[in-house]
Amino acid sequence: MPINKEAYLSLKNDLDAKHVTLVAVSKTKPVEDIRELYDLGHRDFGENYAQEMLAKSALLPPDIRWHFIGHLQSNKVKLIAPFVQLIQSVDSLKLLEEIDKQAAKAGRIIDCLLQAYIAEEETKFGMDEKELEQAFSSINKLRNVKILGLMGMASLTADIEQVRKEFRHLKVLFEKHAKLQIPNSQLLTLSMGMSGDYRLAMEEGSTMVRIGSLIFGERN
Ligand SMILES: *Cc1c(COP(=O)(O)O)cnc(C)c1O
Repeated sequence: MPINKEAYLSLKNDLDAKHVTLVAVSKTKPVEDIRELYDLGHRDFGENYAQEMLAKSALLPPDIRWHFIGHLQSNKVKLIAPFVQLIQSVDSLKLLEEIDKQAAKAGRIIDCLLQAYIAEEETKFGMDEKELEQAFSSINKLRNVKILGLMGMASLTADIEQVRKEFRHLKVLFEKHAKLQIPNSQLLTLSMGMSGDYRLAMEEGSTMVRIGSLIFGERN
């Protein structure tokens, strides 16, 4: 299926005007689709599976900025450590430590977002407030990761006020930690909003949205 060029261009215009970064979520989509968007000038792509991201990166230009946004198993970190731009879905201190280790092996510093648990649903990954505190207080021991912000996913619900409440909560967490001047962190990025709720997320202060189906069409 071809990408929705019109939707992309109007989205991109809108987001650029508001200084919000667009990550095009290309999980399960073929490299041809990514290439089409690349040829329109797009460089930030999001993937959920380490092997898939690795395989696609080998077939596409090296100046693509790959964002990892799915649940990342510790034993898969090494697959993406040499080239990933931003790991947005760091959902445990253990994972952060593994990223630090693999980043050192790859001779680089890997930028990360901590994924905060904000949804009422049981199914979403992420750290609660206590786990976030723990991660931030351990970060000074980790030399090869840098925390650039927070990521969160709201509940999948038609209840707009519920979604707004969850985004607000994430924004509060973000601002609280941004004020603290934590070593190895510089909280500039608040990644929230997907195809169905990105407008709401932007109203609540998102600086980065992750959009898949609106650009690439529905996934199978
Ligand atoms: C799949 C996914 C997206 C994109 O979802 P769409 O509804 O297709 O825009 C965004 N963020 C995460 C973490 C995802 O897994």
